[in-house]
Amino acid sequence: MHAEEAFRKSEATLRLMVEQIPAIVWTTDTELRFTSCTGAGLTRLNLQPDQIVGMSLHDYYATQDEDFPGIASHRRACQGESVNFELEWCGHVFQSHAEPLRDAHGAVIGVVGVALDVTERKRAEEDLRRLNQTLEQQVDQRTKTLEAITTELRRSVQHSRLIVDMANEAFIGMDANGRIVDWNPAAEATFGWTRNEALGRALDQMIIPVRHRKTFHEGVREFFQTGESTLLNTRVEFSALHRDGQEFPVEMSATHILLGDEHSFNVFLHDIRERRESEQALRDSEALYSSLVEHLPVNILRKDLQGRFTFANRAFCELLDKPLEEIQGKTDMDFYPEELASKYQADDRRIIESGETFDDIERHKKGRKTLYVHVLKTPVHDAEGNIVGTQAIFWDVTDKQLAEEKMKRYSTELERSNRELEYFTTIVSHDLHAPLRAVGSYCELLEREYASKLDATAQEYLYFARQSVDRMHALIEDLRSVARVTTSGKPLKPVDCQEVLEAVLTNLTAEIEQSGAEVTHDVLPIVMADSTQLMQLLQNLVGNAIKYCKDGSPVIHVSADRDNGRWQIGVRDNGIGICTEDQKRIFEIFQRGHADEDEYSGTGVGLAVCKKIAERHGGRIWVESEPGQGSTFRFTVRGAK
Ligand code: ADP
Repeated sequence: MHAEEAFRKSEATLRLMVEQIPAIVWTTDTELRFTSCTGAGLTRLNLQPDQIVGMSLHDYYATQDEDFPGIASHRRACQGESVNFELEWCGHVFQSHAEPLRDAHGAVIGVVGVALDVTERKRAEEDLRRLNQTLEQQVDQRTKTLEAITTELRRSVQHSRLIVDMANEAFIGMDANGRIVDWNPAAEATFGWTRNEALGRALDQMIIPVRHRKTFHEGVREFFQTGESTLLNTRVEFSALHRDGQEFPVEMSATHILLGDEHSFNVFLHDIRERRESEQALRDSEALYSSLVEHLPVNILRKDLQGRFTFANRAFCELLDKPLEEIQGKTDMDFYPEELASKYQADDRRIIESGETFDDIERHKKGRKTLYVHVLKTPVHDAEGNIVGTQAIFWDVTDKQLAEEKMKRYSTELERSNRELEYFTTIVSHDLHAPLRAVGSYCELLEREYASKLDATAQEYLYFARQSVDRMHALIEDLRSVARVTTSGKPLKPVDCQEVLEAVLTNLTAEIEQSGAEVTHDVLPIVMADSTQLMQLLQNLVGNAIKYCKDGSPVIHVSADRDNGRWQIGVRDNGIGICTEDQKRIFEIFQRGHADEDEYSGTGVGLAVCKKIAERHGGRIWVESEPGQGSTFRFTVRGAK
């Protein structure tokens, strides 16, 4: 009784417990029809046990599908298996268990099932999983971002390093103790110390000359005391020290950085030797030009587009007898008579409009005198090439102009007198030849018809008379040839000197062979000449070189050298030479050398002709010689382009 009582109590407790737990407990027969059903879980599904008992599982689950977990599990339990399965039903998730229900003999008579509603747990799990996933994604995202930042940072550090290393400027990093912590290749090149030598050493010891170190230390101290320094965030120029002890100018700009509580200084230094030199060169050149402008005896002035003076050099100020300040801002109208000022302004306008240069010789009446002024006016451009004014340079050319006019008059006069001379020499020679010929004929007659009546002395006198007649004829001819140089000259054109010399040597074949002369020459140029006259010139010189040789055979060399844009042709010999006093004289007509005049035939006209020819070609002729040492005759002539 007690046992039964106890059993009932226990059964009631169990039922109470089962009814209270949020589960559903049921039994089915082997046909899978609910035989009982209870549990607080039913309430959640809004079901009552009597709605279910008697219902088949297929109806309950509204399916004939034998594989549906709610059915398959019971089938297996009917086979004696214990089956755990999960089932989602009516929006709830159940963790279920099906167990065979046996009778006292152990035969399966149905199934006892229990299902625990785990919907909330599942939902919580799902939320947790989702949260986890979100967190993981976020972590993933953060990791990626961090990686990207790290890569970017590394790249940026490398980039900065590269910039520092490639920089043209020396870069030096310095810590709070003044020790070097960075030193780029440009610093190596600038100061001569390698990076490894520099790192860790005191900056001042390395690059600052002893006398500046105090200033440097004060600058650093000032910074640590006040947070500011005259050396920081500005450009400072000072003398730096190279490893080899030499000092050179540098420009420094330094900045301070505070990273955490660590101070560091970035110092950029630039070698400004070249800049200083070019600045100096610019200053020198400016000084040179301003000195030239100020001291040149020419007037220089500038005006703006409105014709107002902007600059006047000293000469122009003196000309106007006014200081620069009184000239600047004024116009021509303030200093010149109206008519003249209007002309100047019109000239300026033309230059501004056309952009062209104005170059003219102006005539000005000053009292009874005429002044000539050379005026050169040009437009003044700004850096973009726009015309911003005019510049005038003018200077007095009265003397030159008068001299030129005089020269013109002289040369017209000369031409006229040359023509007259030619006429005169033709007439004179003609008139002289005629009586000479008569004298010659009479001498001949005397010789021919009175030979037997004349004694030896008379015949000798007659012979001398004939000789003099011949010589007189030669002199007259020579005189004409000198005059012909100017009057019968042909226009100058390119002539090959070498060809001319070859013709000369052909003409002189007899003399060369007779004397055994050796004539050599350089490669001779093409020159601007009258070929006939050039031949005459060279033939006279080479002929003389052969003639005035006393001992041995003549050795002659014809040379060609450059001389101030012209050619200098030289004829050198190993002849008797010419004393200094004769060296000028022999170029005059009928002038012969002092020594041994009678020993060598000639009239003293050859060199006079040479001089006239050289001068007609715009050149000159001279001789370099010492008696007994040979002579070199030289003349200059323009080369052909
Ligand atoms: P010429 O030969 O008829 O006397 P030139 O005018 O040719 O006339 O020469 C003038 C003078 O210059 C000569 O009399 C001679 O004294 C001197 N002379 C010219 N050429 C030479 C020479 N190559 N060497 C030495 N003396 C020279």
